[in-house]
Amino acid sequence: MKYLIKNADYIFSQPEKTDIRIDGSRIIQIGKNLLIKEGEQVIDAENTIIYPGFVNTHHHIAQSVIKGIPTGLNQNLSAWLASVPYTYWPHFTPELMYWAAKLGFYEQLRSGVTSCADHHYLYHKNTSQELEDAVWQAAAEVGIKLVLCRGGATVRGTHKGMQKNNIEPESIDLALKRIDDSRTRYHQTTADATQKIVVAPTTIMHSAKADDLKSFASYARNHKLRLHSHLLEVDFDEQTAQEKYQMSAVQFAQSVDWLGPDVWFAHLVKTTNSDINVLAQSGTGIAHCPTSNCRLGSGIAPLLKMRDAGMPISIGVDGSASAEAASMLQEINLTWLLHRAVGGANATHLQECVHWATESGAKMLGLDNVGRIEVGQQADLVLWDITHYRYQGIHEKAYAPIMAGEPAKIKMSFVNGIPVVKGGEPINLRYSELTQNLTEQIQLLKNRICA
Ligand SMILES: [Zn+2]
Repeated sequence: MKYLIKNADYIFSQPEKTDIRIDGSRIIQIGKNLLIKEGEQVIDAENTIIYPGFVNTHHHIAQSVIKGIPTGLNQNLSAWLASVPYTYWPHFTPELMYWAAKLGFYEQLRSGVTSCADHHYLYHKNTSQELEDAVWQAAAEVGIKLVLCRGGATVRGTHKGMQKNNIEPESIDLALKRIDDSRTRYHQTTADATQKIVVAPTTIMHSAKADDLKSFASYARNHKLRLHSHLLEVDFDEQTAQEKYQMSAVQFAQSVDWLGPDVWFAHLVKTTNSDINVLAQSGTGIAHCPTSNCRLGSGIAPLLKMRDAGMPISIGVDGSASAEAASMLQEINLTWLLHRAVGGANATHLQECVHWATESGAKMLGLDNVGRIEVGQQADLVLWDITHYRYQGIHEKAYAPIMAGEPAKIKMSFVNGIPVVKGGEPINLRYSELTQNLTEQIQLLKNRICA
């Protein structure tokens, strides 16, 4: 399809331009007063500002249906892991996973996301591949880009949640075989890829032995896949590294080949200056997830020190069970606010926060032609409707969505030049169908938990 988007009030990083021409999956022209060509569908972008689609670099979309679990409301990370995700996920069916994913993608599309890295860790020795297939299927149906970070554990480890719920880990051989099967079925290497797989044991400190981590890293690099995991969300990772390996957690990551420009970690809240230097020198990135870090009382990642040291920075929503949301708009807004509160009024600015949530995140995920509105880039675009009541009275409309946060309204979104949101609603997902199926599936989940 060919589209001509005309008369936008503002285009991110292209302030003098008003029009964008799309041919197929790409932006082919940006300008002012562009003439309509034959065969083009014209989109009236008056009263909109256009951003690149947001790139969410850390999520657990399965958690969309286990938000606000009463026992987990006031717990820290360790206790919450045992009482929320590890209690519920062994009871997930492919049907529940499918509708959980649809809900997660629905909320992300409504908050301006066009690419989502989902850290999917519902794997154990006897797991069903259909749980993973359900996420791929849901993403393809709604039209969002999916980078599936393939989690799981190859050791039972110290985790109370795994022990309590009798979750039997995969062997390293089984995990690698299954990852390879998924890579063959889903991973795309084309320039316009909408599906990518990442090697992502759930946490490098607790989910795998050192030798297993080296095997994961070696497999990933042999197949040009990226590596992702949780690290240093809380102090426990550092304590474990010191006790088990007599080195810091970041030194441990280095010792098992888990640092580099093809690696990014979620959280990194408890990093020291020395950790940050090692991470920066290796080009290792962070997925900053401020809402979840606040919600679980984990702390605030030293993002400004990371930026100043030259670390790649991106933003993620983390799992909805520790954020009660999957809104990139909320995370970007909170990033802007938190780090000004911590670092002062000159600490960061709106444009930098948008950069972290778009171009910087896309680069981290290996989406090379995503994250900027430029000729030749993939047409992953979001037209924010600035007639929305939250933006009334704002003078600097260009940054209204980031300043105002949720709720917001999107006039239209595109992924690879294909419309996915129109009039505020995802095009390929009816809300009534979503809620009806979620109600049924969540009741069945409750029944299984009580049985
Ligand atoms: Zn996480």
